[in-house]
Amino acid sequence: MESGDNREEHYRVLGVPPSATSSEIKTAYRRLAKQYHPDVNPSTEAAKRMAEINHAYSILSDPARKAAYDAGLGFAEESEKEEFVESVEYAEAFIRDVRCQGCGRFDHTLRVVAFPYVISIIIMSFKRFEAGIFCHYCRSAKSAKCAAISLLFGWWGFPFGIFWTLESLVVNFLRGNTPKEENQQLLKQLAWVNAILGRIDEAKAALRDLLKYDKSEEARRIKDEFYKDYPTIKPSKVSGVRFGYLAIVTAIIAMYVFIGGAIFGESSETSDIIKSTPAQAVPVTPSKPVPITTPKTSPLIPPSDSFVVWQDTSNWVSHTTARISGSVTNAHHDWSITNVKIVMEMVDKSDIVIQKANIAVLPSTITPSGKGEYNKTVEVPYSCDAFSTVLYWTWEPP
Ligand SMILES: [Zn+2]
Repeated sequence: MESGDNREEHYRVLGVPPSATSSEIKTAYRRLAKQYHPDVNPSTEAAKRMAEINHAYSILSDPARKAAYDAGLGFAEESEKEEFVESVEYAEAFIRDVRCQGCGRFDHTLRVVAFPYVISIIIMSFKRFEAGIFCHYCRSAKSAKCAAISLLFGWWGFPFGIFWTLESLVVNFLRGNTPKEENQQLLKQLAWVNAILGRIDEAKAALRDLLKYDKSEEARRIKDEFYKDYPTIKPSKVSGVRFGYLAIVTAIIAMYVFIGGAIFGESSETSDIIKSTPAQAVPVTPSKPVPITTPKTSPLIPPSDSFVVWQDTSNWVSHTTARISGSVTNAHHDWSITNVKIVMEMVDKSDIVIQKANIAVLPSTITPSGKGEYNKTVEVPYSCDAFSTVLYWTWEPP
């Protein structure tokens, strides 16, 4: 355990109070890093100071490591790491200080951990953490809570909201970020304190879990020896299955699917709004998909399509009827146009053609300098969102 003064050492190095926010800590670090940069200040003193600043920042900028530091786990000095005081008093003091910050439990499942979550406002996304020392049960609950917050309030920010929400789902499924160094230290102390207090099953479990964070030969040796000393006592174990987490995440996603179905499925109200917008008729430039009927032997070249003057005045009459009307004028002096017709195409919201209607132009053969007209009221299916008209004709030589 460190004294209260020691606990604030890293904050002092960065010149911020322990209550500083993560952005205040970052700002302070950047300012100092510029001040003590070797290019600006090449002295040995400055280099030493810079090392302190970097070390302090590496801990205070990481939510989980910062939480462990704030809780007084004591990583300020390398020399303190292996220092255990062999006394019940020490153990009891440790238990007073280091226990689950959620429920107060003291057992081998405690971890230094940070749970990421995302909150998006309009399109801006903010990544936040819930960090501290928590037991297995509180880690399960908090990780599910942080995943739920991200799924409800974070994902719509583009692009970070989406990425961070996915990251949050994965990291929280794995019960949060657990920094290696701090958890090694915590589990060693948990093993030690539980052993002193005679909670051998918990001490064995802590040494077993320690091997996940500490792959050293020494850690394995200590574990094996302790297990040999107490061969009959079984180490504690908790279930690792994440039913609760999966149930919450699945429920929220199911809710989105349900709401999405209600909004994007067949909804009469939205259809009405779209349909009532006037002037949805989009006249299309005259095209001629019908092959020209001029005999191959004819030396004549059909006139340019610009001699066909099309005026389309089609429009909606009501939500379910449209009037298709207009005129076609043959502005050429020698050639006639035949097989003149209008095809009306009705599309749905996805722009897929759901129905076509042939509209007769009268007369269907328009002599040079002549004019044809069309005027028809068409019933439009309810799912029709917009319609367009296309003019077809064939040139006929004089
Ligand atoms: Zn707890």
